[in-house]
Amino acid sequence: MSPEFSGNGYKKQSINKDTWAMLEIAHQEGIETVWDRLAKQQPQCGYCSLGTSCRICSMGPCRVDPFGEGPQKGVCGADADIIVARNLARTIAAGAASHSDHGRDILETLYRVGEGKTDVYKVSEPAKLRRLAAEYGLATDGKTDQQVAAALAWEMMEDFGMRRERLPFVGRAPKARQEIWDKTGVTPRGIDRENVEALHRTHMGVDNDWVNILLHAVRTSLSDGWGGSMLATELSDTLFGTPTPHMSQVNLGVLRADMVNIILHGHNPMLSEVIVAASQDPEIIQLAQSKGAKGVNLAGVCCTGNEVLMRKGIPMAGNHLMQELCIITGAVELMVVDYQCIMPAVTETARCFHTKVVSTFDKAKFPGAEHIHFDPEHGLEIGKQIVRMAVENFNNRVPGRVRIPVEPVPLMSGFSIEAILGALGGTPQPLVDAIVNGSIRGAVGIVGCNNPKIKQDLGHTELTKRLIENDVLVVVTGCATVADGKAGLMVPAAADLAGPGLRAVCKALGIPPVLHLGSCVDNTRILVLAAALANHLGVDISALPLAGAAPEWYSEKAVAIGAYVVASGIYTVLGVAPPVFGSLNVVKLLTEGLEGVFGATFAVEPDPNRAAVLIRRHIERKRAGLGLSALDPETISMPEAELALA
Ligand code: SF4
Ligand code: SF4
Repeated sequence: MSPEFSGNGYKKQSINKDTWAMLEIAHQEGIETVWDRLAKQQPQCGYCSLGTSCRICSMGPCRVDPFGEGPQKGVCGADADIIVARNLARTIAAGAASHSDHGRDILETLYRVGEGKTDVYKVSEPAKLRRLAAEYGLATDGKTDQQVAAALAWEMMEDFGMRRERLPFVGRAPKARQEIWDKTGVTPRGIDRENVEALHRTHMGVDNDWVNILLHAVRTSLSDGWGGSMLATELSDTLFGTPTPHMSQVNLGVLRADMVNIILHGHNPMLSEVIVAASQDPEIIQLAQSKGAKGVNLAGVCCTGNEVLMRKGIPMAGNHLMQELCIITGAVELMVVDYQCIMPAVTETARCFHTKVVSTFDKAKFPGAEHIHFDPEHGLEIGKQIVRMAVENFNNRVPGRVRIPVEPVPLMSGFSIEAILGALGGTPQPLVDAIVNGSIRGAVGIVGCNNPKIKQDLGHTELTKRLIENDVLVVVTGCATVADGKAGLMVPAAADLAGPGLRAVCKALGIPPVLHLGSCVDNTRILVLAAALANHLGVDISALPLAGAAPEWYSEKAVAIGAYVVASGIYTVLGVAPPVFGSLNVVKLLTEGLEGVFGATFAVEPDPNRAAVLIRRHIERKRAGLGLSALDPETISMPEAELALA
């Protein structure tokens, strides 16, 4: 990288050198990015930011002005509480629907495997398949994997329907948690049913009790966490393999100047798995060599990237805010996308280069992209077709415009619950012992996105550093992974950055203090781990010294995740304010009232250092509740933020 692209003028946007360099090039070449578009949107609408605008029906759009002299009600009479609650419920339903529809696609693929109607997919984890079948009450003795796959898929399809009183995976939660859900009337039934009911209730003139609306929103989120997302994770492991720990790399330096580069972007691993296979096909490698490339290099973005990083060790080029910047390297022959979190802007950026963008799912088309209909029955054939397109495009690359700005950073990935328990000797007891004796004070899941309103990756990395310094184990999913990976926090040597207790545990096990659990749908691995710990101790999840954080969230899916995590009993801190502050009643319920119902609440704290203090205090309260050793104040390494919060 030549020095004129140091990108030093872009330190306000990001903490990362690769982002700075790419933004400088974008500026010099007049290429618009997400940060430019955010600037053009200023000032953003105050009513929408507070959640008090409504366009549900054509008597509107309406805006209410809860803190001023303007209208206090919409045309139909809805006040701020109703409008904010309805908007939040619809956001949660959209997020839950996105995860769960992803789960449905994987489920349909399992069904095709059962029917013998696919050219490439197969059961990779027969033991897991049979464990799941047993959980669903299916007999498996004497049956082939294919027969079990067909029967399990058929049974799981009912999870989306209306014949169940409760989703089978709800049975994984501790009994005490199930009783809370039953008592509150939020036990999820069918995945589609809860989503459809959320839309029905929020139609004009249906549910106008804002608490009642929000309780159903919780039920909808639980149908995601303990339903659609959990199904997606379990079946992806069944088809593509349960992840095990391994090393890989992260940042724009994973792109190769001497190879054909393909970016895998989106969320669903079905297509990316076959592209991994196609890229290793000798015939394709030979074709690449005939064009002057050394081979085909794959790199991930967003959660498709997390999926293939977890299972195949494919390196990550970046997180959400890097999707346009990957293309600006000039080194990408093809970006293949499935769905979710793909900015429509990528095709515009690609037009400035030789990069082809290929969309693949009929439910997610992009103007300016070439569309190849993805059919799991011919997955490998389609995967090869896409990789060949990339290879054929290599000679259109302009070598003088290839700018790969940094060297890649190593990271360790692959911590499925099975792998974590395996590292612990097959039982959570060693982790419980470490928590009980105080070497590990607690554990925190840092999840979610980037948002250009927050300096890229600052929220994730600062919060992570403060927590591990204070002996709190961190697990990450989604785009938080790339942030912490780039900061060097996800290698075993990062144990040196942890407090003495966590450091000793990590060194004994040879693991980093920050464990990668996967993609956004894999947040369900956190639920499974929390349930396993709670069941092991005979307590509810809300009694454990755990917390969640989404420091840079942007997506509706993140709101659904936050809702099911809190409803599962885990305190959660958001770094970006959700649009609910137009209703003080809703805010009070989310930040205080939920404690009495679910034993957990939300908090909003944009400053990651102050968020760390909130989380540490919460963890110590939970430890005290369990009668575990109190913290020695001398060991706290976040005094400044502590003072600021006092
Ligand atoms: S539902 Fe009520 S508040 Fe919303 S747009 Fe219609 S009239 Fe306005
Ligand atoms: S973490 Fe957020 S931005 Fe990243 S892939 Fe998931 S939903 Fe999208």
